[in-house]
Amino acid sequence: GNLSENPGIKKVSKLSGPDNFIQFRDLHKTYSNQLVVMDGLNLDMRSDDRLVIIGPSGSGKSTLLRVIMGLEGIERGEIRFEGQTYISGASNGLGNIDSEIQKKIGMVFQHYTLFPHLSVLSNLTLAPMKVRGMSREDATESARHYMRLLGLESKLDNYPGQLSGGQKQRVAIARALMLQPQLMLFDEVTSALDPEMVLEVQNVMMKLAEQKMAMLIVTHDMNFARDIATRVVFCAEGRVVEDGPPEQIFKCPQQPRTREFLNKVL
Ligand code: ADP
Ligand code: MG
Repeated sequence: GNLSENPGIKKVSKLSGPDNFIQFRDLHKTYSNQLVVMDGLNLDMRSDDRLVIIGPSGSGKSTLLRVIMGLEGIERGEIRFEGQTYISGASNGLGNIDSEIQKKIGMVFQHYTLFPHLSVLSNLTLAPMKVRGMSREDATESARHYMRLLGLESKLDNYPGQLSGGQKQRVAIARALMLQPQLMLFDEVTSALDPEMVLEVQNVMMKLAEQKMAMLIVTHDMNFARDIATRVVFCAEGRVVEDGPPEQIFKCPQQPRTREFLNKVL
C-alpha cells in the first residue's frame, strides 16, 4: 500500500555519527536451552533516534525490549548506555545489570498494566513517591503536567475501568514518563486497540517525538513506523538484517530478506 508522509516531525538522521547513547554488542539469548532468539545482535542507537524495530512474529522483538528493560537476562554480550556497561551477559542467562541505569528507561506494553484498584492519579504518583521518594505534592503536580500533555487532565480521578483502551494506554505512557526516563520502549502499544483509538495513542507518541524523546518502538503499523522513525531496523533470526532510514527500508530495501518481509506486510 501507499505510505503517507508526515511533514510535522523533523527527522534527525544518523549521518552525524554515533553519540554512544546505547550500544548493543553481540547479544546472545536462548530460551529453554534450545530456542535461539538473539544470535549475535549488534545495534547502535543515538540519543536523538526514534528507532523502530520490525520483523516477523516470534523473531524476538519483545524479548529485546524486555532485555533492555532488565526484565530478561542474556547469556552473552553487552549493552552499553552512554559509554557505561549497563547489562552484560552471563552464561547462566541471568546477566548483570546496573540498576541506576535501569531507572532511566521506561516501557509501555501491548496490554494495559494499570492498577485497576487505584485512581489514575494514584497510578501515576505511586512509583515516583515510593521508588523515588518524591513528595505527594510534587508527584501530583507532575501527574497533572503529563495528563495535560496527553490530553487527559479530566481523568485524574477516574479508575482505569472507566477509561477507553486508548485512554488507558495514554495513562500508561504518562505513568512511564513520570519517572523521567531518558529512553522509552514501546512494545506494540496499539495492537490491542480498536482502530479508532490507535491514532490518539500514536499522536501522543508523535508529540514525544517532537520533544526529542529517545524511543525504541516495536510496531506492525508500517505507516506509523515511516512517520515516526529516524531509523528502521529489520530483525530476523536473532540478528539485525538491515538498518537504515525509513525511506531506504520501505522504498529500496537492500536485503532480500527485508524485501520478502515487506512484500508480505505492506
Ligand atoms: P516477537 O515479539 O518478535 O514476536 P518474542 O520476543 O515475543 O518475539 O518471542 C521470540 C520467541 O521466543 C518466540 O518463539 C516465543 O515463543 C519465544 N518466547 C518468548 N518468551 C519466552 C519465554 N519466556 N520462554 C520461552 N520462550 C519464549
Ligand atoms: Mg512481540
